Amino acid sequence: MNINNLNLPEKVKKYYTDTGIVDLYPPQREAVDKGLLDGENIVAAIPTASGKTLLAELCMLKSIGMGGKCLYIVPLKALASEKYSRFREFESLGIKVGIATGDLDSREEWLGKNDIIIATSEKVDSLLRNESSWMKEINTVVADEVHLLNSVNRGPTLEITLAKLIHLNPGSQIIALSATIGNPEDIAGWLGARLVVSEWRPTDLYEGILLDGLLHIGNIKKDIQDESRDDAVNLVIDTVKDKGQCLVFESSRRNCMGFAKKAGKWVSKILDEHDTIQLKSLSQEIGEAGETEIADVLSRCVRQGVAFHHAGLNSEHRRMVEEGFRKNLIKMISSTPTLAAGLNLPARRVIIRSYKRYDPNFGMKPIPVLEYKQMAGRAGRPHLDPYGESVLIARSYDEFMDIMENYVNADPEDIWSKLGTENALRTHVLSTIVNGFAYTYRGLMDFVKMTFFAYQKEASDLHDVIEECVRFLIDNEMIISDSNDILPESAFRSTATGKLISMLYIDPLSGSLIMDGIRKADYFEDITMMHLICSTPDMKNLYMRSSDYENVNMYVLQNKDKFISMPSPFKMIEYEWFLGEVKTALLLLDWINEVPADDICKKYGIGEGDIRMFSETAVWLMHATSRLSGLLKVSEASEKSKELEKRLSYGINSELVNIVALKGIGRVRARKIYENGYRSIDDLKKADPLKLSKIVGSKISQKILKQLDIDVDISEIKEKDSDTVPEPE
Ligand code: ADP
Repeated sequence: MNINNLNLPEKVKKYYTDTGIVDLYPPQREAVDKGLLDGENIVAAIPTASGKTLLAELCMLKSIGMGGKCLYIVPLKALASEKYSRFREFESLGIKVGIATGDLDSREEWLGKNDIIIATSEKVDSLLRNESSWMKEINTVVADEVHLLNSVNRGPTLEITLAKLIHLNPGSQIIALSATIGNPEDIAGWLGARLVVSEWRPTDLYEGILLDGLLHIGNIKKDIQDESRDDAVNLVIDTVKDKGQCLVFESSRRNCMGFAKKAGKWVSKILDEHDTIQLKSLSQEIGEAGETEIADVLSRCVRQGVAFHHAGLNSEHRRMVEEGFRKNLIKMISSTPTLAAGLNLPARRVIIRSYKRYDPNFGMKPIPVLEYKQMAGRAGRPHLDPYGESVLIARSYDEFMDIMENYVNADPEDIWSKLGTENALRTHVLSTIVNGFAYTYRGLMDFVKMTFFAYQKEASDLHDVIEECVRFLIDNEMIISDSNDILPESAFRSTATGKLISMLYIDPLSGSLIMDGIRKADYFEDITMMHLICSTPDMKNLYMRSSDYENVNMYVLQNKDKFISMPSPFKMIEYEWFLGEVKTALLLLDWINEVPADDICKKYGIGEGDIRMFSETAVWLMHATSRLSGLLKVSEASEKSKELEKRLSYGINSELVNIVALKGIGRVRARKIYENGYRSIDDLKKADPLKLSKIVGSKISQKILKQLDIDVDISEIKEKDSDTVPEPE
């Protein structure tokens, strides 16, 4: 099927043919045949890189041509950015594209001027709660990675969000893109969609197993030379010698780093001169973009042509590693499964070094087939590799047979709604009432009939759990009922507290814990407030390692009075949880007290990416705390949490707040500026450009002065690079 024969605006057809996309791939053709461009809802369950995004693009561009407005929902912020840079290419067609990145309690009305808006499902949920007016104008919804309905953490929000969008704009077209799963017909049935299922891939994929140096793949067996004692390293060497690249999936971050170090020694020996030179400069850039030991290790690995990638890396490092790999400079990345979850980074060969994953409740556990297939599916770069290979490693014949049956030849599992628990539903029951999607108990039950859960099971199965949620919300004065018993006709009304908690996008349980804490607290010290937010279910706390007990316990004993409440040490499980909360609170304290990032990473066994994640969550919860304190009229708590919110955003003491507000100035530079006597914006306005450039470098000092409306010629500022401070965060 030729793109020129499709019912699309002429300029869209020209755009694609100019970029070399002329014929549709078979699954895309099937989607068009099933009504993709005629307003039909479509569920496409097809492998990665088989043109799912393009399928969604065609549908959106058709809709925009008729005056439509499209919402593209993704599960991860990183994916939102990836799609944003892709869709911005349509600006040449006069199409406006926006990405929702603001705070969770903002409306982002300005986004409404766009034709395509990209957002995570949590962000869409929060925009719906804050009643962004343009939501009503959306008539095309794309749900990317919709199989994440199966995820305990993300699934419930995704399904409620889709149900609300359908409720709000009943005629809109829904396109749901899924990995290959066992029961795509369930999603199609739920969304009233036509189903496109296909195993077709633009590049062939062979799945195999390595046993005793012999790779069994497709119908062939291939000898892999045993240059190293590690099978996976031998596979990497084999791929690189064949001019290919590898992705190696590992079970833990520590293993990722360990494997990269090991493989680097071998890969460095087979790099050509061009790559060696380029890698050296990339390695330097990486070393300069962080002040932690991880940055050093990553920089050394990259010099050897390999890298590791996981959520502990800072975003700059992740970006540089991904780019280095796309440019075919980095030959191997060892990664935790984050990369398989959607980033577009294919490689000739995927090696799944471990198919077991640590689960806090069950120990090491085999991963689901669905996860294996997603990792394997990363093999084979379309148009670049002749084929892709994914390899599992067996240590015995029995294991070989076992993984052949349970992974290579297995079908992915069915996915199931995870909506059926009070923890998942509490927040959605509140927002459903606040935003008027339902006013009565019967209305709530009618609304949940629209969910994936109700499609797969029975809405009535949610009866008890919804009743529990409603009781919780009444007991905590977030909603008011017109009757004492909860009857089908009971009518509900949200209170100011309920409305605020829904808009702040926090779990109502977090809201009630924060409000109780503020009411009870005698002092509002830094640790009091930090621990308060860490005691809520919205903060995922650090685990206690055995080496942590002494320090954290000692801190608790010395600062007992500063905690609003604490369990008795004899209640072992509760006390252990409490210590984990305190440990996380101490991490946040170190962050705002300007402890260097590397020291924080070492002390808590985390990476820079984790500091960012903890501080972002803390900023959001501290913001909620300041709003809730305002509602309770406890001004001391409100002031304190406002100040902490700012300090958490940048990881600084209060005196740096104004300096850090300047663009290009992070916590390290701000401290250096302050210590050199520039204590305020007024001091900076009077600064001698030459002196300032000695502290932060000429470019940055020019940037600072420009923001203060002072123009300086860069050539006039003489500075030595060695005098400048690197800014890692
Ligand atoms: P997915 O979203 O399934 O991972 P994409 O839509 O991103 O896949 O497509 C993967 C790559 O294939 C992209 O570079 C895209 O431009 C290209 N592509 C998609 N459809 C076609 C087509 N019909 N012809 C040629 N290239 C295509």
